[in-house]
Amino acid sequence: MGISFALSEEQEELRGVVRQFARDKVAPRAQDMNQRAELPLDLVHEMGEMGLFGLPFPVEYGGSGGTYFDLCLAIEEIGRIDQSLGITLEAAVGLGAMPIWKFGTEEQRRRLLPPLSRGEQLAGFGLTEPGGGSDAGALRTRAVPDGDGWLINGSKSFITNVGTPISAFVTITAVTNDNPREISNLIVPRDTPGFTVAAPYRKVGWHASDTRELAFDDCRIPAGNELGERGRGFANFLAILDEGRIAIAALAVGSIQGCVDECVRYAQEREAFGKPIGSYQAIAFKIADMQASAELARNQYWHAAWLMSEGRPFKRQASIAKLYATEAAVTAAREACQVFGGYGFMTEYPVGRFYQDAKILEIGEGTSEIQRMLIARDLGLPH
Ligand SMILES: Cc1cc2nc3c(=O)[nH]c(=O)nc-3n(C[C@H](O)[C@H](O)[C@H](O)COP(=O)(O)OP(=O)(O)OC[C@H]3O[C@@H](n4cnc5c(N)ncnc54)[C@H](O)[C@@H]3O)c2cc1C
Repeated sequence: MGISFALSEEQEELRGVVRQFARDKVAPRAQDMNQRAELPLDLVHEMGEMGLFGLPFPVEYGGSGGTYFDLCLAIEEIGRIDQSLGITLEAAVGLGAMPIWKFGTEEQRRRLLPPLSRGEQLAGFGLTEPGGGSDAGALRTRAVPDGDGWLINGSKSFITNVGTPISAFVTITAVTNDNPREISNLIVPRDTPGFTVAAPYRKVGWHASDTRELAFDDCRIPAGNELGERGRGFANFLAILDEGRIAIAALAVGSIQGCVDECVRYAQEREAFGKPIGSYQAIAFKIADMQASAELARNQYWHAAWLMSEGRPFKRQASIAKLYATEAAVTAAREACQVFGGYGFMTEYPVGRFYQDAKILEIGEGTSEIQRMLIARDLGLPH
């Protein structure tokens, strides 16, 4: 039996188009976006027109009729230039729209997916709470029946894409019954009375990406806003995260490759002791190590995505992809700053931005510790 790592013609084309867009349209503005800490809605709009927000969804729901792997290819290319815009795309599709696609009724899909697929609206994924993200099953947000709807009280922390001018709704986990304990998913539209979105966090990185705390204070939603089967809310959200790990790995690969791009250029131009710094083995080997980690991490996320597309078990491979790629991205960004010397510490050079943006990759959508825990459990270790 043969083995192939070849992209299809369509995938090569998609990757080329997104690469060009990122270089021509995003790169010149990345530094400014980072400093303003503002999500550039015009770029989101353009990415919407390119079909990036609808990549894994069928055309009848406004999508592009592609695959989750296509989305990962696009995330890698955007992330190679700008991680904030990369995570905006990842969170919008993988976390915002995907629960509707996977668990929504036909009516919910037809109503909610098209504007998300076109990038005209963004949706958030409200799992993490102030009391804990890793142990997300210990949530405190509650929804109690209220006439023909639900009354929600509680809060969510660190939620992406809910505070922008085009944010439409957030899907959340809430305890909907105490005995037996039952967790369900609910859709909360942005303009619902009692739903407040706090000012953006001041973050270490991902400055141009929108992250906020959410509060629900006697927030009433109709029964039609239940998402998926009652009581399956926690399992359904965890399934979303299983896939999301592949997309975060793709984003991390983009970060490493972006570091390599910058370092190769700089190490050829910058001279020390009368020679380009790239001629010193200490520098050349750092860059070679970065490229090795980019390719290994890419192979791993491709493998996980392939297993998923084949309907085979993929969770362990997704965790390994996320764990390896994100830790390699942190190392690569640190080493890239070293290659740049003092300029590596200046905000006008992209490597400094990759450095500030890399750390969160080891935390969001399941920390490195949680990935190791999942891999260990999958190996049959006791817990
Ligand atoms: C910028 C940003 C964007 C985010 N976007 C979203 C979003 O859109 N939606 C959303 O729901 N969440 C989002 N998050 C939340 C993110 O997923 C959580 O921060 C993450 O899962 C960790 O949860 P925590 O912060 O509560 O840390 P904790 O769970 O409190 O963990 C603290 C530390 O303890 C470790 N730890 C916990 N349990 C164990 C254990 N059993 N064994 C070993 N170590 C353990 C963790 O690995 C970590 O090192 C975002 C976070 C950030 C910073």
